[in-house]
Amino acid sequence: MRVGIIGGGAAGLAAAYELVKQGHYAEVFERAPFLGGQASTFEVGGGQLEKGYHHLFVSDVDMVALIHELGLGDKLAWLESKVGLFHGGKVWDFSTPMDLLRFRPLSLLQRIRVGWWTFVLQKTRNWQKFEGITARDWISQHMGRRVYEVIWEPLLRGKFGEYYDQVSMTWLWGKIYLRVASRGKGLQKERLGYPMGSFGEVFDVLGDSIRRQGGDIHISAGVDRVVVGDDGATGLEVTLSGQEPETREYDAVIATTPSYIFTRLVPTLPDDYREKLVNVQYLSAVLVILVLDRPLSDKYWINIADANMPFVGIIEHTNMIDKSLYGGKHIVYLSNYPSRESELYQKSGEELVEEFIPYLRQINPDFDRSWILEHYHHKVDGAQPIIGVNYSQRMPAHRTPIKNLYLANTTQIYPEDRGTNYSVRMGRQVARMVMEDAAAD
Ligand SMILES: Cc1cc2nc3c(=O)[nH]c(=O)nc-3n(C[C@H](O)[C@H](O)[C@H](O)COP(=O)(O)OP(=O)(O)OC[C@H]3O[C@@H](n4cnc5c(N)ncnc54)[C@H](O)[C@@H]3O)c2cc1C
Repeated sequence: MRVGIIGGGAAGLAAAYELVKQGHYAEVFERAPFLGGQASTFEVGGGQLEKGYHHLFVSDVDMVALIHELGLGDKLAWLESKVGLFHGGKVWDFSTPMDLLRFRPLSLLQRIRVGWWTFVLQKTRNWQKFEGITARDWISQHMGRRVYEVIWEPLLRGKFGEYYDQVSMTWLWGKIYLRVASRGKGLQKERLGYPMGSFGEVFDVLGDSIRRQGGDIHISAGVDRVVVGDDGATGLEVTLSGQEPETREYDAVIATTPSYIFTRLVPTLPDDYREKLVNVQYLSAVLVILVLDRPLSDKYWINIADANMPFVGIIEHTNMIDKSLYGGKHIVYLSNYPSRESELYQKSGEELVEEFIPYLRQINPDFDRSWILEHYHHKVDGAQPIIGVNYSQRMPAHRTPIKNLYLANTTQIYPEDRGTNYSVRMGRQVARMVMEDAAAD
């Protein structure tokens, strides 16, 4: 079989890998000049760093298995992470259940309620019971209104912006249920995984493996259209770097782009399927990365539960990963998830740094702009799909209504939330689906 694959991120590469392993030909087209998509990297201090912070949970078994298959297992480190919550002008420790008990902005009874319901969520496998209710309503009903307002509403607003009150409780269940696997028994702290050569290295080695097994991968190679004939998808119109557009023929096509790109590549999609795609909104990620000469805090991850702060997360990468990988420099991500239309999305890196600096003094009163050695600004479109209630009934299928055309994107990761692990799992699953369908034909 010859399979054309649109997108060289985790899903597209995993699909190609699965196909070439089974003796088929896979050809990947990635429009960016690098592989890895949302998990791609750039150079800082002589090391490779993700454009947006990345780590793995212990529950990310498909990504971990792939890393081992690629011979990179000895580079995968499991490291303790320190988590904080910024509330009321102070960073509170938030790594262990004991930290929750010490969180004074809530009454003791409220803290116990948070702890109890978090425990229940960790133990509940049946996610379907959370499908029909929003996170806002479930938390308010079970943990109480004050708990919702102090902890969860600012976090939901930060992550989902104007859609904060539409997000399904399934999303929160996924975060809590799956995350517990990253904690040891009892009160032990969470351990997170990181491939010490970066996620970029994992995807580069994956690309090398695909090529070695007979596949082809093109970067700076955009797909302009999926060719659809009477017999379904038959090829791709592609433009390779510096070349004229051309058409290549395939037995099947797998697209891994966000839905709003996919609908443009296939204008003839039947209305009911198209409807499912356009009904899911996406937010972008906007990252400011500060390279500092000293640490900002002692935490790896600080959630911002304060609507006045202009960013929603502070991820101090070098509080988990050794700074020697980046020439001894300290690396801090300041993250946001705005829509493409928002003012924040339009701002330049310089403007954002200027805007953010005064707020960093609330995290560390000694912070001074002279600590900043370099700064970077990245925007990742299609970063976060908004998954509302009862999504299982509206989720687009991987097999599209057009024969031999398959979709594998982050709106089809459910009940879990997007992540490299699930894109790898989905890419491999869809590749197997393509092979099964061909065998059954
Ligand atoms: C800020 C941030 C932090 C994250 N943190 C984590 C984390 O800690 N751990 C974790 O596991 N995951 C994390 N993720 C999520 C993870 O990176 C993604 O879920 C995963 O990489 C998505 O892979 P994908 O292949 O499904 O999609 P993508 O990576 O989006 O790949 C799709 C690819 O298609 C390409 N493309 C689009 N249109 C075309 C076209 N017309 N022609 C050719 N190519 C095209 C795009 O350039 C892109 O490379 C994070 C994401 C972000 C944004």
